Amino acid sequence: MRPEISVVLPVFNESENLPELKSRLISALESCGRTFEIVFVDDGSRDGSFPLMAAMAESDRRIRAVRLSRNFGHQMALTAGVDHARGRLVAVMDADLQDPPELLPQMLLKIDEGFEVVYAKRTAREGETAFKKMTAHVFYRLMRSWTNVEIPVDTGDFRVLGPKATAAFRKLREHHRFIRGMTAWVGFKQTAVPYVRPARVRGETKYPLKKMMKFALDAITSFSYVPLQLATWLGFLVSLFAFSYILVVLMLKFLGINERGWTTVMGWMLLLGGVQLMLMGVLGEYLGRIYDEVKNRPLYLVAEEAGETLEDEPRPLPR
Ligand code: UDP
Ligand code: MG
Repeated sequence: MRPEISVVLPVFNESENLPELKSRLISALESCGRTFEIVFVDDGSRDGSFPLMAAMAESDRRIRAVRLSRNFGHQMALTAGVDHARGRLVAVMDADLQDPPELLPQMLLKIDEGFEVVYAKRTAREGETAFKKMTAHVFYRLMRSWTNVEIPVDTGDFRVLGPKATAAFRKLREHHRFIRGMTAWVGFKQTAVPYVRPARVRGETKYPLKKMMKFALDAITSFSYVPLQLATWLGFLVSLFAFSYILVVLMLKFLGINERGWTTVMGWMLLLGGVQLMLMGVLGEYLGRIYDEVKNRPLYLVAEEAGETLEDEPRPLPR
Protein backbone atom coordinates (compact mmCIF):
# COMPACT_ATOMS: atom_id res chain seq x y z
CA MET A 1 0.00 0.00 0.00
CA ARG A 2 1.13 3.53 -0.66
CA PRO A 3 2.58 5.05 2.52
CA GLU A 4 1.80 8.55 3.69
CA ILE A 5 5.43 9.57 3.83
CA SER A 6 8.70 8.41 2.24
CA VAL A 7 11.96 9.31 3.92
CA VAL A 8 14.82 9.37 1.42
CA LEU A 9 18.40 9.02 2.65
CA PRO A 10 21.49 9.09 0.41
CA VAL A 11 24.16 6.87 1.89
CA PHE A 12 27.87 6.91 1.08
CA ASN A 13 29.93 4.77 3.44
CA GLU A 14 27.68 5.30 6.44
CA SER A 15 27.41 1.71 7.71
CA GLU A 16 28.33 2.77 11.25
CA ASN A 17 25.45 5.25 11.33
CA LEU A 18 22.73 3.05 9.81
CA PRO A 19 21.58 1.10 12.90
CA GLU A 20 21.05 4.18 15.07
CA LEU A 21 19.58 6.06 12.12
CA LYS A 22 17.05 3.31 11.50
CA SER A 23 15.87 3.05 15.09
CA ARG A 24 15.63 6.81 15.61
CA LEU A 25 13.78 7.26 12.31
CA ILE A 26 11.31 4.52 13.11
CA SER A 27 10.52 5.83 16.57
CA ALA A 28 10.17 9.42 15.32
CA LEU A 29 7.82 8.34 12.52
CA GLU A 30 5.82 5.94 14.65
CA SER A 31 5.33 8.68 17.23
CA CYS A 32 3.36 10.75 14.74
CA GLY A 33 1.20 7.80 13.77
CA ARG A 34 1.58 7.94 10.00
CA THR A 35 2.34 5.16 7.57
CA PHE A 36 5.82 5.51 6.18
CA GLU A 37 8.61 3.95 4.20
CA ILE A 38 12.35 4.51 4.49
CA VAL A 39 14.23 4.62 1.19
CA PHE A 40 17.98 4.20 1.52
CA VAL A 41 19.98 5.02 -1.59
CA ASP A 42 23.43 3.52 -1.58
CA ASP A 43 25.65 5.83 -3.60
CA GLY A 44 28.44 3.38 -4.38
CA SER A 45 29.55 2.69 -0.79
CA ARG A 46 32.52 0.43 -0.21
CA ASP A 47 32.01 -0.22 3.49
CA GLY A 48 29.18 -2.73 3.36
CA SER A 49 26.41 -0.15 3.70
CA PHE A 50 24.26 -1.88 1.08
CA PRO A 51 24.26 -5.40 2.54
CA LEU A 52 23.34 -3.83 5.85
CA MET A 53 20.41 -1.85 4.46
CA ALA A 54 19.32 -4.83 2.36
CA ALA A 55 19.18 -6.91 5.55
CA MET A 56 17.12 -4.17 7.18
CA ALA A 57 14.76 -4.24 4.19
CA GLU A 58 14.45 -8.02 4.52
CA SER A 59 13.38 -7.81 8.13
CA ASP A 60 11.13 -4.74 7.88
CA ARG A 61 8.76 -4.20 4.96
CA ARG A 62 8.74 -0.46 5.59
CA ILE A 63 12.40 -0.24 4.59
CA ARG A 64 13.64 -0.29 0.99
CA ALA A 65 17.15 -0.05 -0.40
CA VAL A 66 18.32 1.07 -3.82
CA ARG A 67 21.93 0.60 -4.87
CA LEU A 68 23.32 2.87 -7.58
CA SER A 69 25.82 1.39 -10.01
CA ARG A 70 28.63 3.64 -8.71
CA ASN A 71 29.16 6.85 -6.74
CA PHE A 72 27.03 9.45 -8.50
CA GLY A 73 27.28 12.07 -5.77
CA HIS A 74 24.98 13.23 -3.02
CA GLN A 75 22.60 15.25 -5.20
CA MET A 76 22.07 12.41 -7.70
CA ALA A 77 21.54 9.86 -4.93
CA LEU A 78 18.94 12.15 -3.46
CA THR A 79 17.23 12.45 -6.83
CA ALA A 80 17.21 8.68 -7.25
CA GLY A 81 15.57 8.38 -3.84
CA VAL A 82 12.84 10.89 -4.67
CA ASP A 83 12.20 9.08 -7.97
CA HIS A 84 11.81 5.77 -6.14
CA ALA A 85 9.67 7.12 -3.30
CA ARG A 86 6.04 6.00 -3.26
CA GLY A 87 4.75 8.16 -0.42
CA ARG A 88 2.35 11.06 -0.77
CA LEU A 89 4.95 13.23 0.97
CA VAL A 90 8.69 12.91 0.57
CA ALA A 91 11.25 13.84 3.21
CA VAL A 92 14.93 14.05 2.28
CA MET A 93 17.71 14.06 4.83
CA ASP A 94 21.35 13.11 5.40
CA ALA A 95 22.16 9.64 6.69
CA ASP A 96 24.83 10.73 9.17
CA LEU A 97 22.35 11.86 11.86
CA GLN A 98 23.28 15.50 11.36
CA ASP A 99 19.65 15.94 10.33
CA PRO A 100 17.86 14.76 13.48
CA PRO A 101 14.88 12.48 12.67
CA GLU A 102 13.12 13.88 15.76
CA LEU A 103 12.46 17.07 13.79
CA LEU A 104 10.28 15.24 11.24
CA PRO A 105 6.99 15.27 13.21
CA GLN A 106 7.21 19.05 13.53
CA MET A 107 7.93 19.42 9.82
CA LEU A 108 5.00 17.16 8.93
CA LEU A 109 2.67 19.37 10.96
CA LYS A 110 3.67 22.28 8.73
CA ILE A 111 2.71 20.21 5.67
CA ASP A 112 -0.68 19.61 7.30
CA GLU A 113 -1.01 23.39 7.59
CA GLY A 114 -0.83 23.56 3.81
CA PHE A 115 2.84 24.22 3.11
CA GLU A 116 4.32 22.36 0.13
CA VAL A 117 7.99 22.72 1.05
CA VAL A 118 9.14 22.64 4.66
CA TYR A 119 12.87 23.01 5.08
CA ALA A 120 14.93 22.73 8.23
CA LYS A 121 16.93 25.86 8.91
CA ARG A 122 19.98 25.57 11.10
CA THR A 123 20.28 28.25 13.75
CA ALA A 124 23.65 26.90 14.83
CA ARG A 125 26.09 24.24 13.61
CA GLU A 126 27.92 22.14 16.11
CA GLY A 127 31.28 20.57 15.50
CA GLU A 128 31.97 22.06 12.07
CA THR A 129 35.31 23.68 11.31
CA ALA A 130 35.50 27.47 11.32
CA PHE A 131 36.46 27.20 7.64
CA LYS A 132 33.32 25.26 6.71
CA LYS A 133 31.10 27.67 8.63
CA MET A 134 32.77 30.67 7.06
CA THR A 135 32.62 29.36 3.49
CA ALA A 136 29.01 28.27 3.98
CA HIS A 137 28.11 31.71 5.33
CA VAL A 138 29.68 33.52 2.37
CA PHE A 139 28.23 31.00 -0.10
CA TYR A 140 24.62 31.39 1.03
CA ARG A 141 24.84 35.19 1.00
CA LEU A 142 26.48 35.17 -2.43
CA MET A 143 23.75 32.91 -3.78
CA ARG A 144 21.14 35.21 -2.34
CA SER A 145 22.49 38.26 -4.13
CA TRP A 146 23.41 36.52 -7.38
CA THR A 147 20.29 34.53 -8.10
CA ASN A 148 16.72 35.39 -8.83
CA VAL A 149 15.17 32.53 -6.85
CA GLU A 150 14.70 32.94 -3.13
CA ILE A 151 17.11 30.28 -1.91
CA PRO A 152 16.78 30.21 1.88
CA VAL A 153 20.07 30.84 3.68
CA ASP A 154 21.60 28.29 6.07
CA THR A 155 19.55 25.29 5.00
CA GLY A 156 20.86 21.93 3.89
CA ASP A 157 18.88 19.39 1.91
CA PHE A 158 16.84 18.40 4.97
CA ARG A 159 13.26 19.08 3.90
CA VAL A 160 9.81 17.65 3.41
CA LEU A 161 8.04 18.03 0.08
CA GLY A 162 4.29 17.95 -0.29
CA PRO A 163 2.59 16.13 -3.21
CA LYS A 164 2.67 19.10 -5.59
CA ALA A 165 6.29 19.97 -4.83
CA THR A 166 7.31 16.32 -5.23
CA ALA A 167 5.62 16.06 -8.62
CA ALA A 168 7.24 19.31 -9.71
CA PHE A 169 10.67 18.24 -8.47
CA ARG A 170 10.47 14.97 -10.42
CA LYS A 171 10.00 16.98 -13.60
CA LEU A 172 13.32 18.80 -13.16
CA ARG A 173 15.81 16.54 -14.92
CA GLU A 174 18.85 18.83 -15.12
CA HIS A 175 22.23 17.14 -14.82
CA HIS A 176 24.00 19.60 -12.54
CA ARG A 177 21.73 19.66 -9.58
CA PHE A 178 21.58 22.13 -6.74
CA ILE A 179 18.63 20.64 -4.94
CA ARG A 180 18.20 23.39 -2.34
CA GLY A 181 17.77 25.82 -5.21
CA MET A 182 15.52 23.51 -7.20
CA THR A 183 13.08 23.00 -4.34
CA ALA A 184 12.99 26.77 -3.85
CA TRP A 185 12.43 27.27 -7.58
CA VAL A 186 9.28 25.12 -7.68
CA GLY A 187 7.49 27.74 -5.58
CA PHE A 188 4.22 26.99 -3.74
CA LYS A 189 3.97 27.81 -0.04
CA GLN A 190 7.30 27.28 1.70
CA THR A 191 8.35 27.60 5.31
CA ALA A 192 11.20 26.81 7.68
CA VAL A 193 11.53 24.90 10.92
CA PRO A 194 14.57 26.00 12.97
CA TYR A 195 16.97 23.50 14.52
CA VAL A 196 20.50 23.22 15.85
CA ARG A 197 22.59 21.07 13.53
CA PRO A 198 24.50 18.54 15.60
CA ALA A 199 28.01 17.38 14.77
CA ARG A 200 28.65 14.16 12.89
CA VAL A 201 28.92 11.44 15.52
CA ARG A 202 30.55 8.70 13.47
CA GLY A 203 32.52 8.63 10.26
CA GLU A 204 33.86 11.62 8.42
CA THR A 205 32.47 14.19 6.03
CA LYS A 206 32.05 13.07 2.41
CA TYR A 207 32.32 16.66 1.24
CA PRO A 208 36.01 17.48 0.97
CA LEU A 209 36.99 20.91 -0.35
CA LYS A 210 37.05 19.72 -3.98
CA LYS A 211 33.46 18.47 -3.85
CA MET A 212 32.39 21.62 -2.04
CA MET A 213 33.86 23.73 -4.84
CA LYS A 214 32.09 21.71 -7.52
CA PHE A 215 28.89 21.95 -5.55
CA ALA A 216 29.23 25.74 -5.29
CA LEU A 217 29.98 26.05 -9.02
CA ASP A 218 26.96 23.92 -9.91
CA ALA A 219 24.82 26.04 -7.62
CA ILE A 220 25.95 29.32 -9.14
CA THR A 221 25.83 28.23 -12.77
CA SER A 222 22.41 26.59 -12.36
CA PHE A 223 20.80 29.66 -10.93
CA SER A 224 22.75 32.71 -12.03
CA TYR A 225 24.10 34.48 -15.09
CA VAL A 226 26.13 36.91 -13.00
CA PRO A 227 29.51 35.33 -13.86
CA LEU A 228 28.66 35.64 -17.57
CA GLN A 229 27.55 39.22 -17.11
CA LEU A 230 30.89 39.90 -15.48
CA ALA A 231 32.38 39.82 -18.97
CA THR A 232 30.08 42.60 -20.12
CA TRP A 233 30.77 44.82 -17.14
CA LEU A 234 34.51 44.23 -17.07
CA GLY A 235 34.54 44.81 -20.83
CA PHE A 236 32.85 48.18 -20.42
CA LEU A 237 35.15 49.16 -17.58
CA VAL A 238 38.34 48.19 -19.38
CA SER A 239 37.20 49.88 -22.60
CA LEU A 240 36.51 53.08 -20.71
CA PHE A 241 40.03 53.05 -19.31
CA ALA A 242 41.49 52.07 -22.66
CA PHE A 243 39.80 54.89 -24.57
CA SER A 244 40.93 57.49 -22.05
CA TYR A 245 44.38 56.02 -22.10
CA ILE A 246 44.59 56.29 -25.90
CA LEU A 247 44.20 60.03 -25.47
CA VAL A 248 47.14 60.06 -23.04
CA VAL A 249 49.22 57.98 -25.45
CA LEU A 250 48.44 60.32 -28.35
CA MET A 251 49.27 63.34 -26.25
CA LEU A 252 52.60 61.82 -25.25
CA LYS A 253 53.33 61.03 -28.90
CA PHE A 254 52.77 64.66 -29.96
CA LEU A 255 54.96 65.84 -27.10
CA GLY A 256 57.65 63.52 -28.42
CA ILE A 257 57.90 61.29 -25.36
CA ASN A 258 56.56 58.06 -26.77
CA GLU A 259 59.71 56.00 -26.39
CA ARG A 260 59.31 54.93 -22.78
CA GLY A 261 56.33 52.99 -21.46
CA TRP A 262 57.51 49.36 -21.46
CA THR A 263 56.14 48.95 -17.94
CA THR A 264 52.74 50.31 -18.96
CA VAL A 265 52.53 48.10 -22.03
CA MET A 266 53.52 45.00 -20.09
CA GLY A 267 51.15 45.86 -17.28
CA TRP A 268 48.17 46.24 -19.58
CA MET A 269 49.06 43.15 -21.54
CA LEU A 270 49.29 40.97 -18.44
CA LEU A 271 46.12 42.44 -16.97
CA LEU A 272 44.11 41.99 -20.15
CA GLY A 273 45.52 38.51 -20.71
CA GLY A 274 44.48 37.49 -17.22
CA VAL A 275 41.02 38.96 -17.46
CA GLN A 276 40.41 37.37 -20.85
CA LEU A 277 41.54 33.93 -19.76
CA MET A 278 39.46 34.17 -16.64
CA LEU A 279 36.34 35.08 -18.58
CA MET A 280 37.00 32.29 -21.05
CA GLY A 281 37.09 29.98 -18.05
CA VAL A 282 33.69 31.28 -16.98
CA LEU A 283 32.35 30.59 -20.49
CA GLY A 284 33.89 27.13 -20.28
CA GLU A 285 32.06 26.36 -17.05
CA TYR A 286 28.72 27.13 -18.66
CA LEU A 287 29.65 25.47 -21.95
CA GLY A 288 30.62 22.21 -20.21
CA ARG A 289 27.30 22.18 -18.43
CA ILE A 290 25.40 22.81 -21.64
CA TYR A 291 27.33 19.89 -23.16
CA ASP A 292 26.27 17.64 -20.29
CA GLU A 293 22.64 18.62 -20.80
CA VAL A 294 22.82 18.00 -24.54
CA LYS A 295 24.27 14.52 -24.06
CA ASN A 296 21.20 13.84 -21.96
CA ARG A 297 22.55 10.77 -20.23
CA PRO A 298 20.44 9.25 -17.48
CA LEU A 299 21.03 11.00 -14.15
CA TYR A 300 21.98 7.75 -12.39
CA LEU A 301 21.84 4.00 -12.92
CA VAL A 302 20.38 1.52 -10.48
CA ALA A 303 22.30 -1.70 -9.87
CA GLU A 304 19.88 -3.48 -7.56
CA GLU A 305 17.07 -3.00 -5.11
CA ALA A 306 16.10 -4.67 -1.89
CA GLY A 307 12.69 -4.73 -0.25
CA GLU A 308 9.59 -3.83 -2.21
CA THR A 309 10.46 -2.30 -5.55
CA LEU A 310 8.65 0.15 -7.76
CA GLU A 311 7.47 -2.73 -9.94
CA ASP A 312 5.49 -4.05 -6.99
CA GLU A 313 3.35 -0.99 -7.39
CA PRO A 314 3.99 0.69 -10.71
CA ARG A 315 4.21 4.43 -10.89
CA PRO A 316 5.32 5.99 -14.14
CA LEU A 317 8.87 7.27 -13.72
CA PRO A 318 9.66 10.62 -15.28
CA ARG A 319 11.56 10.61 -18.56
N1 UDP B 1 26.69 11.38 0.33
C1 UDP B 1 26.37 10.64 -0.80
N2 UDP B 1 27.26 10.62 -1.85
C2 UDP B 1 28.41 11.35 -1.84
C3 UDP B 1 28.70 12.14 -0.71
C4 UDP B 1 27.82 12.14 0.37
O1 UDP B 1 25.34 9.97 -0.84
O2 UDP B 1 29.15 11.29 -2.82
C5 UDP B 1 25.75 11.39 1.48
C6 UDP B 1 26.35 11.07 2.83
O3 UDP B 1 26.38 9.68 3.08
C7 UDP B 1 25.43 11.79 3.78
C8 UDP B 1 24.99 13.01 2.97
O4 UDP B 1 25.23 12.69 1.60
O5 UDP B 1 24.27 11.02 4.08
C9 UDP B 1 25.72 14.27 3.37
O6 UDP B 1 27.12 14.08 3.31
P1 UDP B 1 28.11 14.58 4.47
O7 UDP B 1 27.48 14.35 5.80
O8 UDP B 1 29.43 13.94 4.25
O9 UDP B 1 28.20 16.14 4.18
P2 UDP B 1 28.41 17.29 5.27
O10 UDP B 1 27.35 17.10 6.32
O11 UDP B 1 29.79 17.10 5.81
O12 UDP B 1 28.24 18.56 4.48
MG1 MG C 1 27.07 15.44 7.38
